[in-house]
Amino acid sequence: MGITKSKPDESETAENSTTEEKVEVPIFDRPITRDYDIKKRLGQGNFALVRLCSRKSDGENFAVKIIHKKRLQNNKQQKALQREVEILNKVDHPYCVHLEAIYETTNHLYLVLEYCAGGELFDMICQQNHFTEQQAVQVVRQVTEALAYLHSLGCVHRDIKPENILLEHRSPDSIVKLTDFGLANHLDGSDLVFWTSCGTLYYAAPEVLSTDSYNEKIDFWSLGVVMYVLLVGYLPFYHDNRVKTIELIRRARVPFDMADWRTISSEARDLIRKLLVFDPVRRYGSTKILSHDWITGGTAGAEPLNLQKLKEFESWRGNFNDHIITMMGLQRWKQYALEQNPDVSMAGMTSESEFDFLGMGIQDGIDAANDEAGEGEGKAVANTYE
Ligand code: ATP
Ligand code: MG
Repeated sequence: MGITKSKPDESETAENSTTEEKVEVPIFDRPITRDYDIKKRLGQGNFALVRLCSRKSDGENFAVKIIHKKRLQNNKQQKALQREVEILNKVDHPYCVHLEAIYETTNHLYLVLEYCAGGELFDMICQQNHFTEQQAVQVVRQVTEALAYLHSLGCVHRDIKPENILLEHRSPDSIVKLTDFGLANHLDGSDLVFWTSCGTLYYAAPEVLSTDSYNEKIDFWSLGVVMYVLLVGYLPFYHDNRVKTIELIRRARVPFDMADWRTISSEARDLIRKLLVFDPVRRYGSTKILSHDWITGGTAGAEPLNLQKLKEFESWRGNFNDHIITMMGLQRWKQYALEQNPDVSMAGMTSESEFDFLGMGIQDGIDAANDEAGEGEGKAVANTYE
């Protein structure tokens, strides 16, 4: 699968010549290592491994999202990747991650992205151990502005969740950078198993979980869930059982335990109630959010929020991700890695160092295991992502 765009025909070029479009980034077909030094692992999503890299010409840092093309087995996923690249190419906004360059080889696609040194928002808050309702206002305002911009481009994000809200700098006061446009773009009610397995279910709007059609309002539901977790540290709709979680989301009755909400302004609860609305027509959109009293009225408190529950949430989220990685065929990869390096013992290694000891991320390991296993078996591993 190639992502290189076909050339526009002449009439299209003439028509577009008056619009101010962002210049598309170049797609290089040479090895990325010629231009960038690839460094530590920054994150692992469901589809990609993300590593820090630095540009050899000037030493500037970037993040590179490495996608193994063979893993995107079905047409839907391939189209979604194509769409992510198209969207990234259009996006030019201070609160959205910027695409710098693309490298494409036979097996891999490398998206060179603006590096967000602050990492994921929730991780930063927990590390800094200090976060206020006023700071939460800034986060919600910026994510809303980023969404309004994306929607104006005709793009629905569809995957608003804490992992996709990054920070430019290592400070909770840093501006946010929304990331991950597109790979979830073509998901609908028929992909329920997928939604659950990648931890996105808890942020999904009721209309996404049915076969109904949906529009950009789904992003504001998800923002409501993120805002809720940001303020009290737990999910508004959660049950150990997936079907029960879906029931809670569909019922859309937002629980407010006053023991936790006592110190938080009533305007915050009011805005959450207007975001977590079952009916997308009545649900607040960007204009109403940005003029809501919680955002504009200065009612949000300056006292530090109680972060105990958010920290517990973070560790739960971490375990959840580990669980997914296990499902993704960790055992298979370890076996492969040991076969390739019989002298290395993994005893006593943390899972992080296990992933890195071959100088490759887990994704490369799984891919390698897939390649080794041959068609049939390889598919079995890859299918656990779906
Ligand atoms: P998902 O599972 O949400 O579909 P994905 O596979 O599409 O994820 P991303 O969400 O783009 O991948 O990236 C995975 C993780 O890598 C992020 O959650 C974040 O921790 C880290 N990351 C991604 N982009 C950057 C960046 N530009 N700067 C710093 N860290 C990043
Ligand atoms: Mg992501």
